Amino acid sequence: MFLTISTTGTPDSPATDLGFLLHKHPDHAQRFSTAHGTAHVLYPEATAERCTAALLLEVDAVALVRRGKGKGRGGAPDTALAQYVNDRPYAASSLLAVALSAVFSTAMKGQCRARPELPPAARPLRISVPALPARGGADLVRALFEPLGWTVTAEAVPLDETFPEWGDSRYLRLELASERLTLAEALRHLYVLLPVLDDTKHYWVAPDEVDKLLRAGEGWLPGHPEHKLITSRFLSRRWSLTREALDRLELVRLAETDDTDVEEIDNAVDEESDTEEKPVPLAVLRREAILAALHASGARRVLDLGCGQGQLVQALLKDVRYTEIVGVDVSVRALAIAARRLKLDRMGERQAARVRLVQGSLSYTDRRLKGYDAAVLSEVVEHLDPPRLPALEYAVFGAARPGTVLVTTPNVEYNVRWETLPAGHSRHGDHRFEWTREEFRAWSRAVAERHGYTVEFTPVGLDDPEVGPPTQMAVFTLDRATPTAKEEAA
Ligand code: SAH
Repeated sequence: MFLTISTTGTPDSPATDLGFLLHKHPDHAQRFSTAHGTAHVLYPEATAERCTAALLLEVDAVALVRRGKGKGRGGAPDTALAQYVNDRPYAASSLLAVALSAVFSTAMKGQCRARPELPPAARPLRISVPALPARGGADLVRALFEPLGWTVTAEAVPLDETFPEWGDSRYLRLELASERLTLAEALRHLYVLLPVLDDTKHYWVAPDEVDKLLRAGEGWLPGHPEHKLITSRFLSRRWSLTREALDRLELVRLAETDDTDVEEIDNAVDEESDTEEKPVPLAVLRREAILAALHASGARRVLDLGCGQGQLVQALLKDVRYTEIVGVDVSVRALAIAARRLKLDRMGERQAARVRLVQGSLSYTDRRLKGYDAAVLSEVVEHLDPPRLPALEYAVFGAARPGTVLVTTPNVEYNVRWETLPAGHSRHGDHRFEWTREEFRAWSRAVAERHGYTVEFTPVGLDDPEVGPPTQMAVFTLDRATPTAKEEAA
């Protein structure tokens, strides 16, 4: 099981610089013990014109089986023979990726103390993997490597050269070539994409794999067109980890998006809410209902969670009663629009001291959100996938624990009253669900019960006798007498 990395040189940049970059001297063959066997690094050729380093891993198949068991790997037990007779020792796979990161860890980080000018420089690179197990075949290999700047040659390896009629094996011979990548980038691509193509991890996927993936994927994974497939396969399709990784990638992606097209989005969103809310200016009614409930609660320091473009923050700023207003949203674009709407950059010192916009995801606990009088979640919960709701619930009611929480959400029963809404459609393309009155109440009551809050419900908009109001609002009040008792009981 092996791969080779080659480079070519010029008079002022000899190919043997590869030895510095890899921190392995071209004149010596070296061995390293890794968790799964012995890794060898050797240089089949090392001249100023051309230099090739080979990484070869001798896998200890027996240790591999024991290790797998010892770590309590899930799934059905393998048959006795299959444990020992499998392709792991021979194919470039997740094991090779692990060896790569063990043997070339400094190179992967792009560090070289002796020659600091080398790592940041792109150089001609050619990587060859003679036997790559690839679920998804050559097409997927191209879809994964080409967007990263590689020229890809991927040829199926026949099952048996003498009997071509037997067809191809599940292996490919892979050649990657690029002139514009650094060695560290190349190694980080391989570290992630070899196991993704292999798609059978040999070890238990622990939660810290998410950190490893994001670290190795820095700078290229968030924008990769196949980032979902890569994430899901790298994490062995462990759903909760994949979800976490995708959320974190989304944060990075949003943070990286430039805001030049804010104007466009601003208009697009205005149009959208126009069609959504023509029959009644529902957004206005909602804001008024929220302001009234906040007023009644006596809150002075308020969080607007999922503040979007800052309309509520703006309304709160106009009322001197509110001494601290924090708008939180996952979308950098929405926050940029909000900042413009509020004229944050031109605000006087006293106003500016009252308001803050922060980026964050509501499905993670966030210390910055602790200790407020009230939190508003206006038309936010329906934007989360239902399996993410418990995370939001915990972050808001369990960790941040404001005295009052206001939650508004569409009442799906009312949708039949919207003239422009085709039957069975939700009001907004990004809504992951819309609740009936009963569903919203059941969820709210359960949340209140679990976290020591009392909850009451208020209709927003005309309360239709048959289908109820267009918007439903829940007002949660922290039960100060016995919060801990209730928390413990839950
Ligand atoms: N509260 C505003 C905006 C509602 S639109 C209003 O009532 O008009 C929903 C907003 O929630 C969007 O701005 C979206 O970016 C934000 N959002 C969705 N999921 C989020 C999450 N997990 N964390 C933080 N904000 C989120």
